[in-house]
Amino acid sequence: MPRALLVILDGCADRPVKELGGKTPLEVAVKPTIDRLAAEGSCGLMDVISPGIRPGSDTAHLAIFGYDPYKYYPGRGPLEALGAGLMLSPGDVAFRTNVATVNSDLIVVDRRGGRYIDPGEVREIENVVNNEVLPILKGKYGIDAIYKQTVEHRGVLVLRGGVSPHVSDTDPHAVGAKVSEARALSNDAKVTAEFINEFTKLVYEKLSRAEFNERRTREGRGPINMVLLRGAGSMRNFEPLSSRYRIKPAIIAGVALIRGIGRALGMDAINVNNYIGSKDDDFMAAFQTAAKALGNYNFVFVHVKSTDSMSHDGDARGKVMIMERVDAGMRSFLEEAPGDTYIFITCDHATPIVVKDHTGDPVPFMAWGPDVMKDDITQFSERTCARGFWNRIRGIDVMNIIANYLGTLEKFGE
Ligand code: ZN
Ligand code: ZN
Repeated sequence: MPRALLVILDGCADRPVKELGGKTPLEVAVKPTIDRLAAEGSCGLMDVISPGIRPGSDTAHLAIFGYDPYKYYPGRGPLEALGAGLMLSPGDVAFRTNVATVNSDLIVVDRRGGRYIDPGEVREIENVVNNEVLPILKGKYGIDAIYKQTVEHRGVLVLRGGVSPHVSDTDPHAVGAKVSEARALSNDAKVTAEFINEFTKLVYEKLSRAEFNERRTREGRGPINMVLLRGAGSMRNFEPLSSRYRIKPAIIAGVALIRGIGRALGMDAINVNNYIGSKDDDFMAAFQTAAKALGNYNFVFVHVKSTDSMSHDGDARGKVMIMERVDAGMRSFLEEAPGDTYIFITCDHATPIVVKDHTGDPVPFMAWGPDVMKDDITQFSERTCARGFWNRIRGIDVMNIIANYLGTLEKFGE
């Protein structure tokens, strides 16, 4: 039974970098294994969404997994909640949150509660919201809710039961502005908006009285007495990858958001020690785990985060170094992977060093496997892949191409 590895190098595609002599990090990196795969297989360019459209990692991954983001994107709230490890059901509404400091007129003094919040305070904030605020609202509106802090000042609030995502933010997105009132943006959202406005009131009341805020005040830090909400979105019902492409999929990703997307699409998440989406990630372990997983799954996806992080930091040399470490990981993958494995490598978008942010450039794509056409491209890079067998594909084509080699798809027509 054939199987496939898909590697997405986050933000790896780039533009010419002065510091690298006008080359891209992919052109400069010494990556004998990936370049050998490119030489033995075939390359192309990919428009992840559409030419020139700048994708977020979330919309990009949805597209590459075959879900048109214009149709399926549930908004940041639900994806953030999935990333935080909360299980969401279709219809649940999720918000992204910030804890903040406000004065008695609910004017925002600090949108991030000083940013530094110690783990004990995180638990106390969650405790107050989940045990003192939300039960009152449940009694009044019959809406179930859960609040969870994620990183620093950020968190998520999930509502369940007769709720609508069509409500405006309470986050005024500026210091010196008053906490906004949530407005219903459609008729079905009136109760949800009322719930949210009551939430704002109660959170202020209860958090202002919390013990940890007395301590913060004594220490000269502002109290954390507000939870600002933004980006409401409703969880969609995704047809799982397993039925869509008739594959058994697994995901190895350090980044919570990507793992959350994988889980929403029905992939089994496999944990790897020291693989958390940082520049020190253990790529060797991740790719060895992927090779082993291909014994149980016929599709394994590995997400590499730090190529993107290096670009956001403008660190060209760092990006080159990450690619070289990924290449070493790929070498050990090949030693351990079953013989009938196909390999696909691409990026979810470009994050050029010179821009330090995502751009809508096309990204390189390559396919390798027992019966994959060999073209005459011998290096995996933005420039070389432009001359390859695959020409120009779209992100949404990737899973069909993979399933085509795996032979899992029904014929279209007779
Ligand atoms: Zn990305
Ligand atoms: Zn990025």
